[in-house]
Amino acid sequence: MAVAIDIDSCIACGACAEACPNDALEVDDYAEVDEDACIECGICVDTCPVEAISL
Ligand code: SF4
Ligand code: SF4
Repeated sequence: MAVAIDIDSCIACGACAEACPNDALEVDDYAEVDEDACIECGICVDTCPVEAISL
């Protein structure tokens, strides 16, 4: 498992990728998660300004 990202809500701000301790997020047009790298810490969920990430 890994976080779920609502790509329609994502504004591609990059805050989640910057906050992720395991480098599991990449942001281009929207955020994408590397499911193998995500350790489900929840930091990105709290960091996203538009609540686009859920765990
Ligand atoms: S839950 Fe943690 S490890 Fe997973 S993508 Fe978010 S910040 Fe990274
Ligand atoms: S923090 Fe939220 S809005 Fe910003 S890139 Fe990540 S998912 Fe998108």
